[in-house]
Amino acid sequence: MTLLLEKHISAVVPGKKGLRIQDYCGMYLTRGAGYVKTPAMRGEIWGERPRLFEVRKRGVCMKGYRGTILRVDLTTRSIQRQDIPEFLKRSFIGGKGFGTWLSVQENPPETGPLSPENKIIIVTGPGAGTSLPTAVRSGFFAKAPLNGVILESYVGGSFGHFMKRAGYDVIIVEGAAATPVFLKIIDDQVTIEDASQLWGRDIYETEEELKALLGVQARVLAIGPAGERLIRFACIGHDRNRHFGRMGSGAVMGSKKLKAIAVVGTGRVEVHDPEGLSAYVKDLSRRIREHPGTGVVYPTAGTVNFVAKANALGVFPSHYWHRGEAKHRERIDFDAMSATTLVRQTRCHGCSIGCAHINRIKDGPHAGIEIDGPEYETIYVFGGLCDVGDIRDIIKLNDLCDRLGVDTMHTGNLLGLLMDATEQGRLPDIYRIKFGDTALMIEVIEKLVSREGEWRLLGEGVLTVAERFGLQDLAIHVKGLEPAGYDPRGLNSMAMAYGVGNRGATHLDSNAYARDISGTARDFELAGEDKSVDRFSMGRKAELVYNMINFNAIADCFTFCRFLNRDLLTWEDYTEVLFLLTGMRRSSEQLLEIANNIVTLGRWYNIGLGLSKEDDFLPERFYCEPSAQGTLEGRTVSKRGYQQELEQYYALRNWDNRGIPRFYPHGYGG
Ligand code: SF4
Repeated sequence: MTLLLEKHISAVVPGKKGLRIQDYCGMYLTRGAGYVKTPAMRGEIWGERPRLFEVRKRGVCMKGYRGTILRVDLTTRSIQRQDIPEFLKRSFIGGKGFGTWLSVQENPPETGPLSPENKIIIVTGPGAGTSLPTAVRSGFFAKAPLNGVILESYVGGSFGHFMKRAGYDVIIVEGAAATPVFLKIIDDQVTIEDASQLWGRDIYETEEELKALLGVQARVLAIGPAGERLIRFACIGHDRNRHFGRMGSGAVMGSKKLKAIAVVGTGRVEVHDPEGLSAYVKDLSRRIREHPGTGVVYPTAGTVNFVAKANALGVFPSHYWHRGEAKHRERIDFDAMSATTLVRQTRCHGCSIGCAHINRIKDGPHAGIEIDGPEYETIYVFGGLCDVGDIRDIIKLNDLCDRLGVDTMHTGNLLGLLMDATEQGRLPDIYRIKFGDTALMIEVIEKLVSREGEWRLLGEGVLTVAERFGLQDLAIHVKGLEPAGYDPRGLNSMAMAYGVGNRGATHLDSNAYARDISGTARDFELAGEDKSVDRFSMGRKAELVYNMINFNAIADCFTFCRFLNRDLLTWEDYTEVLFLLTGMRRSSEQLLEIANNIVTLGRWYNIGLGLSKEDDFLPERFYCEPSAQGTLEGRTVSKRGYQQELEQYYALRNWDNRGIPRFYPHGYGG
């Protein structure tokens, strides 16, 4: 029931009497027709809603943006260009802000993740397409096939940079094609093309074919057979080994019969102060070189540096979350990689850090395989959770997952669960698999992607598998998302971060493990003189994690890489960069408010799904089952301490003690 003309509407937010309509200036239209009456709270937010955008005459666009949403409907084959409302730029900046707000508007909680109604929303930030280091990333938002919350995933490489140069801040793909297609974007020429010949091909082949067709300057997002067959943890590959990895983005594309998106972008992104930005980038490049993390550790060993460190600290999740150290650590760490497979360093487009590595298997049964990887998280799942004791086997598994298009973190967690259940005698014969059995792991991955017969079940993901075999007490996840490679029993800041994450147990919302390990918070992360962080105590974790999540939320609005913002950038950097790019002035306090608005919007979405405080707790095993060996032996997370900090976290966000926000983040009006 819409009582206003669509063209006047920018947003719909809940008010005391029902939904309130907001116009493009962020003003409420509260008189008479300004309300849409709806019944209950859930319906109040997610009730009948008007279509939010209309094609408008192009006006002058704020610098730093191209000002355009490309909207493609695969059902009707319509292609539209729509202006991004000023309200959206001013209130949510870009990237994560755009993605979260658009998800709430476009994909209400009742949306079926594999239905044509689930819209793909690909976002960039105001820094994309410019010379700003690492701001090449793009974000993928949709309703998640894996666990039903907002799918939020980021990829490096080069797609975001060239999508922006092609003229688009946001791409929305809705509906579903009847037969396989790919989306071809060459600047303002956008067409939906037949992809029948590509259907069934792996991700590497698809990317190569499209580059052969469109030229090497084409940047490609592609799915493999896993995405086509709707595996709920299928990923999207890009630039060979970069991924929108977690939560099932590949399955969303597969459900639309969308095999790939290829972009060629040659336009320029104008910024508010080009000279100022150039001076800023020069200085930032110097800071990157001089910083021990971005100047030494990451360019040398990348994320793999953490394998040895995590083992030494006893927080390298092993033997499906029973141990904190891998017995074979010296065969899977960076030294092992350097000695056996390392070829050279590589990097995302225009990045001056360069944390990635090309590896090639030179001997043994998998000789000849060459990949960009593996990253720490892939080594943790296969080398840790599944006890694979040879870096070459891990590279083989990584290559297989990347070709077929399943995310390594979800795949490794699922196989680890099967291994643990096998050891405990809790699985039917067909699914039994022993820890460290690489040959069988390869077979199982191929079978689960085939989705044939009994193997279909595994493609449904950890929640369904655990439920089917009564393994709920064993399976490790929060809100259906498995954790990254940091054992919270020895990293209590991560315990808090895993629990409160809107998408589940992600490490990327906060990177809190970094403070657990260094033992010190940055100035803005903890108030007062005492900046110490005790990784074995829940004390002050709410404050730390609240500040870290907010800081990262703004980094994701610009789509900065984590390795840049985590230890090097400051709130002052954000305010300066925003001004140089767009001319918008926002103080640190105002950016903090925007960050809290974005996180709270995601929370409203979860409330709309029926999630509650109970879903913010960790799996019971972390509270009750001590890690079995090494530094962490005997350690658990204090549930009492966790609960106290959880309520403190809610209070910092202005949510009540049930975790329900006391306000609706309608945007920042200035
Ligand atoms: S630091 Fe690594 S992941 Fe980040 S942008 Fe650079 S190469 Fe990519």
